[in-house]
Amino acid sequence: MDGSEVRVFDCDVLVAGGGPGGSTIATFLARRGWRVILLEKSRHPRFHIGESLLPANVPIFEELGALAKLRALGRLKLGADFPRDDGSYYTFKFDRALGDTPHYSFQVKREDMDRMLFEHARGQGVDAREQTMVERVAFDADGITAWIAANGQASRLRARYFVDATGRDTLLGRQLQLVERSVQHQSAAMFAHYAGVAFNPDDPGGNIISINRFAHGWAWFIPLPDGTTSVGCVCKPGWLKARQGANHADFMARTLAIVPGATHRMANATRVMPVRFTGNYSYACKRMAGPRWILVGDAWAFLDPVFSSGVFLAMYSARRALDVVDGALRDPRSEAALQKNYARHLRHGYQRFAWFIRRFNSPVMKALFADPRNVMQVEQGVISMLAGDVFDNRLVLSKLRIFKTIYALSSLANLRRWAADRIDRRRQNRTHVAVDATTE
Ligand SMILES: Cc1cc2nc3c(=O)[nH]c(=O)nc-3n(C[C@H](O)[C@H](O)[C@H](O)COP(=O)(O)OP(=O)(O)OC[C@H]3O[C@@H](n4cnc5c(N)ncnc54)[C@H](O)[C@@H]3O)c2cc1C
Repeated sequence: MDGSEVRVFDCDVLVAGGGPGGSTIATFLARRGWRVILLEKSRHPRFHIGESLLPANVPIFEELGALAKLRALGRLKLGADFPRDDGSYYTFKFDRALGDTPHYSFQVKREDMDRMLFEHARGQGVDAREQTMVERVAFDADGITAWIAANGQASRLRARYFVDATGRDTLLGRQLQLVERSVQHQSAAMFAHYAGVAFNPDDPGGNIISINRFAHGWAWFIPLPDGTTSVGCVCKPGWLKARQGANHADFMARTLAIVPGATHRMANATRVMPVRFTGNYSYACKRMAGPRWILVGDAWAFLDPVFSSGVFLAMYSARRALDVVDGALRDPRSEAALQKNYARHLRHGYQRFAWFIRRFNSPVMKALFADPRNVMQVEQGVISMLAGDVFDNRLVLSKLRIFKTIYALSSLANLRRWAADRIDRRRQNRTHVAVDATTE
């Protein structure tokens, strides 16, 4: 049978990718009565990076009915700090955020969280299958056909709608040639889990994550529920070039040695897994949706994870995509308008994070984060951004606009440092490094 023939549908919606984005939309759709098949190419539990969640994510877990399960497997997260070059730091605590965003979130091992969400979807009536890969999708006037590979067997599935939640694999993004790499973020990340990493002295419970800037990027410290700590370094292309044949572990150690504040935290640390590398980093697809298809989470775009936004954006986009898919299945004439609103709404939120990310390592931003002033509640607005409240809260958005003005004025006052930073960023953008897929 070829893809254009009409066949009885195997399901209403086929979701490819059983990460947080895929499991979230599959659960919500099943709850609205749709027949959903969720396909995951690997088998849970499987390692995944992305272990620090945002407070704005908590209501989505609650709506899914999975908050108690998350609480049981996560470590409470109460804020974030961004240590200064001398190792001293200031903690941005979520309980000072504006509006009604929860004052907490969680630090998780993704293999546990992603398995929980996948099984939760199954428990809500989703036909959730593992070790099943979607290889290609074709669209016709009636529905979609997906080519599937499982246990060495090839088969096809027919559905009325297709959700691509395949993460950085971006199945449709590649197939339809939608992916555009960001020249402004050609960084790569290396990371591992360690035992024996010291917490910050003011955080005896390990409930705060640390983001330490250094000359060539930034590093994270995320205490995990089992007592280990996730440590990673996001490096600019220029520093990656300096690797010169060093293996991953040696390069990680060499990099941590130049991160201010890292040496004392790592003094008694032992690595408990291989160092992994992820390169070719930030991208966005030109389109987010089309007739009978929609992209959620990393399948659409990937932002540098300095503000831990990825899982929230995956689950938030899944929650918004629910209304598009549900609406389009009920009334196909509404599809284009629903998709347009979806794309516009999400782009605004992504851009708000992206503005901060682009300037994160600039001297002006460094100074503003090192010594925050709560003039006109601007610092609280920044805390709300750090909590993920970047979409609808007018009060927060007004504070972020004031912050941008302060940033612009500070840049004018420090014109030479600002210009030097611009030149460095341009130079880094021209430097290409050959780190592509995730490797060990
Ligand atoms: C270095 C680094 C650090 C990060 N740190 C954080 C952080 O601290 N906090 C945070 O929130 N985010 C972080 N992120 C981002 C976070 O990992 C992602 O944004 C998040 O996992 C996206 O969820 P998703 O569901 O869209 O994709 P994924 O979680 O990647 O899930 C996609 C799933 O699809 C499956 N799949 C892929 N292709 C196919 C196919 N063809 N058929 C079937 N299944 C398929 C994959 O196996 C995977 O399970 C980080 C990312 C990186 C690279």
